[in-house]
Amino acid sequence: MSCLFCSIVNGDIPSNKVYEDELVYAFYDIDPQAPVHFLVIPKEHIPSAGAVTPENSAVVAHCFEVIAQVTKELGITDFRVVSNCGLQAGQSVPHLHFHVLAGRDMTWPPG
Ligand code: AMP
Ligand code: ZN
Repeated sequence: MSCLFCSIVNGDIPSNKVYEDELVYAFYDIDPQAPVHFLVIPKEHIPSAGAVTPENSAVVAHCFEVIAQVTKELGITDFRVVSNCGLQAGQSVPHLHFHVLAGRDMTWPPG
């Protein structure tokens, strides 16, 4: 199965790495929507937030630990975490990912 983010995890497609461990990979978004915009993804292929189950949810908790750790290391206290699920919600890559956006005022509701 070809998946853009699986290819980034296995190094076939280059990325600007922010963080990596055995479960999670984080890298800067190629089309940043804020002064700081990186993505945190499980290395395991999970298609979206709609495919999280009791069997795979531990890695989701770990993604949030990584988000807390990396933002702290970058000196970021205020940030937004977004996961688009499905085409109508704007998901363009079908591999679960958490956008971390920071460095500018954020509006609510999101568009
Ligand atoms: P989404 O549209 O919510 O599925 O988010 C996918 C994100 O992946 C978008 O913000 C894209 O800019 C980003 N993206 C696509 N290709 C790459 C790439 N090769 N490296 C880094 N980010 C990418
Ligand atoms: Zn994948």
